[in-house]
Amino acid sequence: MLAADAETFAAVPRGVSVERRSGAAPRLDARTRVQFLPGIGPQRALAYERLGLVTLEHLVRHFPRTWLDATQFVKVRDLRRGELLTVTGTVKHAGALRTRGGRADFAATISDGTGTLPCYWFGQSWLARTLAPGTQVVVSGEISGAERQMTNPMFEVVEDDLESLLHAGRLVPVHSLTRGLTARGFRQAVRRALDLVADQLPDPVPAAVAAAHSLAPLGAALREIHFPTDAVALERARMRLAFEELFLLQAVMGLRRRALSEEGRALALAGPGALAARVRAALPFTLTQGQEAAVREITADLARPRPMLRLVVGDVGSGKTVVALLAACAAVEAGQQAALLAPTEILAHQHGASLQRLAEGSGLAVAVITGSASPGERRALQARLSAGEPLLVVGTHALLEERLQFPALSLAIVDEQHRFGVRQRAALAAKGVVPHLLVLTATPIPRTLQLACFGDLDLSVIRERPAGRGRMVTRVTSEEKFPNVVEFMARELAAGRQAFVVVPSIEEGPRADLKAAETEVERLRSQPPLRAYQLGLLHGRMKADEKRAVMEAFRAGTLHVLVATTVVEVGVDVPNATLMVVENAERFGLTQLHQLRGRVGRGSHRSVCVLVAGSLAGARARERLEVMTTTDDGFELAEADLRMRGPGELWGVRQAGLPAFRMADLTRDEPLMLEAREAATAVVAADPHLLAPEHAALRATLRERFAQPLELALAG
Ligand code: ADP
Ligand code: MG
Repeated sequence: MLAADAETFAAVPRGVSVERRSGAAPRLDARTRVQFLPGIGPQRALAYERLGLVTLEHLVRHFPRTWLDATQFVKVRDLRRGELLTVTGTVKHAGALRTRGGRADFAATISDGTGTLPCYWFGQSWLARTLAPGTQVVVSGEISGAERQMTNPMFEVVEDDLESLLHAGRLVPVHSLTRGLTARGFRQAVRRALDLVADQLPDPVPAAVAAAHSLAPLGAALREIHFPTDAVALERARMRLAFEELFLLQAVMGLRRRALSEEGRALALAGPGALAARVRAALPFTLTQGQEAAVREITADLARPRPMLRLVVGDVGSGKTVVALLAACAAVEAGQQAALLAPTEILAHQHGASLQRLAEGSGLAVAVITGSASPGERRALQARLSAGEPLLVVGTHALLEERLQFPALSLAIVDEQHRFGVRQRAALAAKGVVPHLLVLTATPIPRTLQLACFGDLDLSVIRERPAGRGRMVTRVTSEEKFPNVVEFMARELAAGRQAFVVVPSIEEGPRADLKAAETEVERLRSQPPLRAYQLGLLHGRMKADEKRAVMEAFRAGTLHVLVATTVVEVGVDVPNATLMVVENAERFGLTQLHQLRGRVGRGSHRSVCVLVAGSLAGARARERLEVMTTTDDGFELAEADLRMRGPGELWGVRQAGLPAFRMADLTRDEPLMLEAREAATAVVAADPHLLAPEHAALRATLRERFAQPLELALAG
């Protein structure tokens, strides 16, 4: 899958030059090994290699993790506590100190004419050689202790002028290091490497793009990212390098898109639409605007002889199933086969049942196959498939991918429910005729993430939910109010309704979710108001048929309350359930809570979602939960999640494999992402195999960083 490959972004070394003419001093270039830098030998070079830094180019592209602002110069007289401040002065007294523990420290006093500043460096007695009395020095640190001293300050001996400082008295870069490397040694090496190669590195961003977007030269950006002149220059450099990251990613997306959706690789499914019309006519409802739009977009895609790659995003309950069904009609009408892949057995059965119901009488054949099918049933279905019978097969991913042959598969529908594992793309798009691909997901995804992870998919969004649903109320409460929650639940149950209780696992460990759910069931059973009711348990460690039995009992109403770990995420449709209680709700992301809440409110009754903040939840966590009471729009909640928790925490996105950006920040770089996408799209459109000389560096960089997924795209 594309995004996972993008994680190798930094690691793959480009061809490394090791040649060294005997006698002559080595000529250093971007591909020279780090070990040939002055001050680094073969031994130290091993430490750099542990960081993946083999060549000078790698070194200058190892961007700082952060920067310390040590740019405030003050006089010793004016030093204040609590701030990173810098003093320039002369070393007065200096000497090694042996502590009682046997450690050799170093102490020096620094004077600037307005006072003297005591400094201590723990365990660094070797500084006696560097900071001898009389040396001009810059120290940056914070004042502490009764003596108003600096402990382990950053420092630098002043040789020329303050402009050339690397380690103190500036925005000091902090690089990620490893055993065997010091911050000072590393900065020194980066400085040298920058001086040698920064201006001769091939720039993967084509000159025309750089010019159109007023990007500073690559070399200047690299210099400023390591050793920024000031905060403004640093941000400009970050933007320059972030643009490059986003541009490369979007170029890959663009290339893949072109390769996968090449004309002629798929069958055009452009029948008269009579089958779809019959299904529509029999529907007990009319489609929402969002559903209509999605169907229109899909139908147009299917009518073309190049593979559709489309993602349909719509909240739980927005009616994606019928959209998928109408798509399948186009395939079957054309005498072809369609497959719907569900993530779990429960969902496959549920889908199968509702699709059969919706398709009844239309003449569309729907077959359901899951792991619990007998070998005989499986053989029978295989025979129909092999005979080329046009039909829609519903099953689980694994089964359809591994066990069945589809000679006439021309549409694959992947119901990811709450995930984005779009890996099926690669598997299906192997050789020959490629099926059209439709991915359904209930997880709303912010625009930047959509472009970062799925920029090669088209998007249909179903925003509204079908009318006729009951009202939905969300409340935030706390653990102390548990008795009230129990009472409320008892009232709902007395009115004939049902309830879900969802518990996250609090502890780590393989059986933690089970334990959490069991504890909760016991606690609820012991509450007098709930004595009369049946409580069931559903957790991730149950076998598929055990799960199904519990689900069936809940659906049939013999169980009144279902206590579950997050397995209810995966599709449970019980219209009579009107109460969703989420314990320790602060442990969930907003999108995840939104999806849990979507489990109720499916019938015509008023529904309630109660988010119970755990006793340890802080004020900020409570505040975050309150957002749930203010909006019912999944996209808004996803954006809020992105802002508050960052992209890695966005539910569903992590599994998709988020590209590892070092400079781009998805929480604020949306405009940059759009610019980069536009630029990359134009480049790919003009030069689909990147064969033009001005795209040579781009091509080489993509090959190196995204190796595999590109073979397909760049061949030719
Ligand atoms: P999801 O998007 O979560 O997969 P489903 O396709 O399961 O949603 O639809 C949820 C329920 O809404 C189903 O019972 C379905 O029949 C019903 N439904 C779908 N579209 C409409 C509509 N336009 N009007 C009314 N009910 C609808
Ligand atoms: Mg669904």
